[in-house]
Amino acid sequence: MTTAYDPNNIFAKILKGEIPSVKLYEDEDTLAFMDVMPQAPGHLLVIPKQGSRNLLDADPAVLAKLIPVVQKLAVAAKDAFEADGVYVAQFNEPAAGQTVFHLHFHVIPRHDGQPLKP
Ligand code: 5GP
Repeated sequence: MTTAYDPNNIFAKILKGEIPSVKLYEDEDTLAFMDVMPQAPGHLLVIPKQGSRNLLDADPAVLAKLIPVVQKLAVAAKDAFEADGVYVAQFNEPAAGQTVFHLHFHVIPRHDGQPLKP
């Protein structure tokens, strides 16, 4: 069963400016901002402006614009936080750990020896 996109989800409200966020990057199609409960320093989220619930219902044309931004920000976050690696993840539906139902990619700089929390 496919669940419809809810245009009142928290990231849609961030996009509309109804909820504040610490923005890192924005273009016509994409927004990146800091996660409010970071799992490690530098934890950021990348979202498309077009509403999709998650990867399962996303338009491939939207993904084609989004993924290069995820890549750029992963490289930038790794450099900025002098990290050894970068965790990039996204979850689809509650069973997989999704809690906000607007497609997003987590980008988390990781350092050798740090326990992986996600
Ligand atoms: P999910 O579990 O859906 O993949 O991750 C949702 C993420 O959104 C979590 O890491 C959570 O900390 C973050 N988050 C939830 N509410 C807000 C908010 O109001 N502002 C920001 N910046 N992040 C949020």
